[in-house]
Amino acid sequence: MTVASRLRPFGNTIFTEISHRARQRGAIDLGQGFPDFEGPDFVKRAAKSGIDVESNQYPPSMGLPVLRERIAAGFQTQTGIAVDPDSNVTVTSGCTEALAASFLGLVEPGERVILLEPWYDAYPVGCALAGALPRFVTLRPPDFRLPEAELRAAFAEGARAIVFNTPHNPTGRVFDHDELALVAELCVSHDVTAFTDEVYEHIRFDGKAHLSLASYPGMWERTVTMSSVGKSFSLTGWKTGWAVAPEDLTAGVRAAHQFLTFTTPNPMQHGTAVALSAPQEYFEELRALYTSRRDLLAEGLDRLGFGVYTPEGTYFLLADHRPFGFSDDVAFVNHVIEHVGVAAIPPSVFYNDPADGAELVRFAFCKSEDTLRSALRRLEGIRR
Ligand code: PMP
Ligand code: GLN
Repeated sequence: MTVASRLRPFGNTIFTEISHRARQRGAIDLGQGFPDFEGPDFVKRAAKSGIDVESNQYPPSMGLPVLRERIAAGFQTQTGIAVDPDSNVTVTSGCTEALAASFLGLVEPGERVILLEPWYDAYPVGCALAGALPRFVTLRPPDFRLPEAELRAAFAEGARAIVFNTPHNPTGRVFDHDELALVAELCVSHDVTAFTDEVYEHIRFDGKAHLSLASYPGMWERTVTMSSVGKSFSLTGWKTGWAVAPEDLTAGVRAAHQFLTFTTPNPMQHGTAVALSAPQEYFEELRALYTSRRDLLAEGLDRLGFGVYTPEGTYFLLADHRPFGFSDDVAFVNHVIEHVGVAAIPPSVFYNDPADGAELVRFAFCKSEDTLRSALRRLEGIRR
């Protein structure tokens, strides 16, 4: 075995595995979260002109000034905090790199990092890369609310950081004011840094507001706020993201970023700068589109007999598959890929104790109506 011991436990990501099996079996892929439709033309044109008329050489390590200005402006709109693009904003190769840079640049080996589970798979790996110890706090159905007592207990044990993802993949929670106020209070009183993952900031439903931890009292100075262009503009392959943080935390992010990737492809930064100047109507249309896709999938699954946990945000939906009689999520997903022709994600891989996710299955609805309708039709075949 040649894989370094710190990464050996993680194997291939579930997204790689399921997408591969979906292709092999010709299954409709509601697994990995990528749209099967195109991002907006005005953004794609800007990247093309980045190649044709701007520059194809290294941009500055911290990112193109025009993009950092737009990120700073967006951050101010969201949080009310005016930040300096030069000292507070770093462009990274996706939110994934911003997360890795935060772990590697700011966490010492042996320090604890609080992770909510179900998690996004890059978080426990970030801990492993940095030699940090994850401390898990579990969100449980039916409402997946932050469990106050468990969270207080985790903070009381001491931690360097908490990773906080809202809107939350895979539960679809958009955490509310009381939940953010609790996390903020605990971070301040226990001197804990927050790494926030806000990649689904614009994808939320039913008028739910996106709240950023950095905007809470005492939090700006202890928060690295991360996001990216991929979800908001249906361009997941662009891998252009950012981290906004006070100078001392930015120093850690940049210390790692300059050697992880040094910088992020120049044309994509041009495209992303134009994306971030999109009018409000763009985001309203995005929300309307995903609201209708969510409803289509949720109603269809409900009709088929799934227990549906209707998401408040993101483009994922968790459902309870137990009415169909499978032993666990892996058995369920194996069956639907092999015999029904639909791929989905088994959420037990997002928990420290797989039993916690065994009753669930995650479907992605960032797909065309035709794709979702075809998947629902195929899923009728699972009734046994
Ligand atoms: N965080 C979460 C919660 C995600 O679902 C994703 C999806 N890939 C990412 C981070 C990664 O974002 P990026 O593609 O910008 O690296
Ligand atoms: N964020 C995507 C998801 O949750 C996956 C991204 C990836 O494959 N790394 O499906």
